[in-house]
Amino acid sequence: MTESAQDGEYDAWLDSIESDEGYFLECSNGHGWLPPRRVCPRCHDQDLSQIDLPESGEIASHTTITVPTPQFEDDAPYVTAIVDFGPVSVTGLVRDVDPDDVAIGDVVGIDVGERVTTGERAVVFRPR
Ligand SMILES: [Zn+2]
Repeated sequence: MTESAQDGEYDAWLDSIESDEGYFLECSNGHGWLPPRRVCPRCHDQDLSQIDLPESGEIASHTTITVPTPQFEDDAPYVTAIVDFGPVSVTGLVRDVDPDDVAIGDVVGIDVGERVTTGERAVVFRPR
């Protein structure tokens, strides 16, 4: 698979999140992954199905970035988090909440937003 094909698949996944039809990939043994995937990295199963992503997840870990790489300097300070959606975890930016108030176990919804510095699309979490 070429790199651009992988990017295209990730873009399509962001589109699905934007239209509230987010999904993840699950193998027949219940291992969850985000696209792009062709094979389960854990059990090498090639039978991956698209499963609806739950509407909300719980923050499993978070980091506040106050001194970012120059690429994202206008975004700082910002919070990145890993959010547990059950079979799958998603990494993204936490918005609409003071960085000091972000806590493990917070319930958030998933959306797509833009990086302030680059305008690139990114996964965004907001409190529910
Ligand atoms: Zn598997």
